[in-house]
Amino acid sequence: MDISLFAPRHMDIGGGAASRIAAMLHRLGVSRPLIVTDPVMVSLGLIDRIRAPLDQAGIPHTIFSDTVPEPVDTVIEAGVRFAADLDIDCIIAFGGGSPIDTAKAINILRAAGQGARMRDFKVPHTADHAALPLIAIPTTAGTGSEATRFTVITDTGTDEKMLIAGLGALPVAAIVDFELSMSVPARTTADTGIDAFTHALEALVSRRANPISDGYARAALRLIGPNLRTVYREPDNRAARAAMMLGATLAGLAFSNASVALVHGMSRPIGAHFHVPHGLSNAMLLPAVTRYSLNAALPRYAEAARLAGFAPDTDADQLAGARLLEELETLNHDLAVPTPSAFGIARSDWDRTQPTMATQALASGSPANNPLIPDETQIMKIYAEIY
Ligand code: NAD
Repeated sequence: MDISLFAPRHMDIGGGAASRIAAMLHRLGVSRPLIVTDPVMVSLGLIDRIRAPLDQAGIPHTIFSDTVPEPVDTVIEAGVRFAADLDIDCIIAFGGGSPIDTAKAINILRAAGQGARMRDFKVPHTADHAALPLIAIPTTAGTGSEATRFTVITDTGTDEKMLIAGLGALPVAAIVDFELSMSVPARTTADTGIDAFTHALEALVSRRANPISDGYARAALRLIGPNLRTVYREPDNRAARAAMMLGATLAGLAFSNASVALVHGMSRPIGAHFHVPHGLSNAMLLPAVTRYSLNAALPRYAEAARLAGFAPDTDADQLAGARLLEELETLNHDLAVPTPSAFGIARSDWDRTQPTMATQALASGSPANNPLIPDETQIMKIYAEIY
């Protein structure tokens, strides 16, 4: 079996690791960072967890904090213009998946030079070149973007959430410090946690899984399964936050090397058209897509159920698979995941958009990695079912 492995060159993981930012820059031989973050990181003061050690080390830095949740191409272009004349030699991406993806996209567009547009890089094109070394520091335990070769940017012209893949999107280094995630509000904790769980599950059942991605996915499921509800109910539980943060990074490594599948393929269009946060649209789809796919990869789904603690080791595959379906439904209930209808999306809008969403889901390539590969009609059936 041929395996192509992608991972950051260095990852510093642990409570308080953000304070070691200056040492990380030193190791990489860079000293003039642009920090890309969002306004919440600034107003909460979280950004000081890296600014203070940078100041202490005498490292000057510039901040671009005009990023938006679920990033769009116009903000990326604004970021490229902001950074154009700055004397910088690296980028620090600090925040949830949105600022990290924004930083990656700015870095790709900066390398491409004048006239390049984000849509030039959407799959099946590749984005293998970036301008500067990028160090990613996540503050949510979810996307795993700190460890992936992906960035997801919405094209404001077409309302399409574009998947952009390539070495140019892979951070050179990451600092994974669960203490940064202690302040994540309950709703976002749930959404990002389910996102991480979905990455691990989809990586394990993906047609492109390999022994290395399997190792990451299994380790991620063991950490995320037992801690997902705990972090939602007990936000101050440090052990649970630490497990989720590490689990999310491992899940990122897993899907960066095995790819995601049908849940993500169908989830991106929901996010783009109806502005549903990424983890939440995954959660809306996860039980129905798993039910659709289960028998095509039953041993793998059953293994996932056991690893996550949803089924005892003694359960045969059929029973463990059934428990997985049951648990995913219960999880959505316990984490207060709304249906698209309860989220406030009008039925007429949902029905009208379904064909476009199905086309965009298939075009992203992700459904082709699913154990059972759907056609457009089947995808629309699942969209209809979850409404
Ligand atoms: P996010 O970055 O949009 O953050 C959600 C909200 O939580 C924001 O308001 C943010 O300010 C706030 N927040 C973040 N950290 C906080 C903290 N520590 N304390 C308090 N508030 C905090 O959400 P996300 O789920 O982390 O990222 C979603 C984005 O990531 C989407 O655009 C999605 O498409 C993308 N994504 C990328 C990849 C990848 O591999 N590149 C994978 C999955 C998802």
